[in-house]
Amino acid sequence: MNFDSPITIALSKGRIMKDTLPLLAAAGIEPQDDPSTTRKLILDTNHDNVKLVLIRATDVPTYVQWGAADLGVTGKDTLMEHGGEGLYEPLDLQIAKCGMWVAGKPGADLTARRLRIATKYVRAAKDYFAERGQQVEIIKLYGSMELAPLVGLSDLIVDLVETGNTLKANGLVKLEHMCDISSRLVVNKASWKMKHKDLHALVETLRTAVG
Ligand code: AMP
Repeated sequence: MNFDSPITIALSKGRIMKDTLPLLAAAGIEPQDDPSTTRKLILDTNHDNVKLVLIRATDVPTYVQWGAADLGVTGKDTLMEHGGEGLYEPLDLQIAKCGMWVAGKPGADLTARRLRIATKYVRAAKDYFAERGQQVEIIKLYGSMELAPLVGLSDLIVDLVETGNTLKANGLVKLEHMCDISSRLVVNKASWKMKHKDLHALVETLRTAVG
């Protein structure tokens, strides 16, 4: 692919990166440094016009929303929390797949009154229990949600589950499936109009690579 306009792509280190690089390679985009080991935050690629910015997964929608990056790759979980303002979500990349689950100790009662739920996913948890007409107290955490029910901080957790190994290692079980999660391509709405030819071609090439 050739790019006429300058394009900035937001990526996050970690599990999404590993699966995103082959997709970018299929579109002919190769970073000049190894993104998983470099300390640089802005990476040149084999295209003069295309740069990668490496940021925290939870910041990807914000950079793209404000146009600091034209497009980015981020988990549906992160997008749900962000709200998706200013973004198009043209493509499910079908990578970093997992589920969002309500989990807790075996036999935990999901119908109990005033349940306390510990989670990083405050918005998703609030919406989920509101839809069931259930009043819950949400406790915001930034990681290791599995600890919360073990030390009495919460009755339940809302978290992502892939293999289930983390829950199992802590004596917890999946209780209710909330939704499927995978990584999505997000595009800044203004960039989509201004750089339509390049971005449209890139999205369609990635769509073919996803299969
Ligand atoms: P697992 O033990 O494989 O079920 O993975 C669970 C842990 O990995 C939890 O701490 C999750 O928050 C995290 N996790 C699983 N899948 C993903 C994903 N696709 N993106 C981000 N975090 C994930």
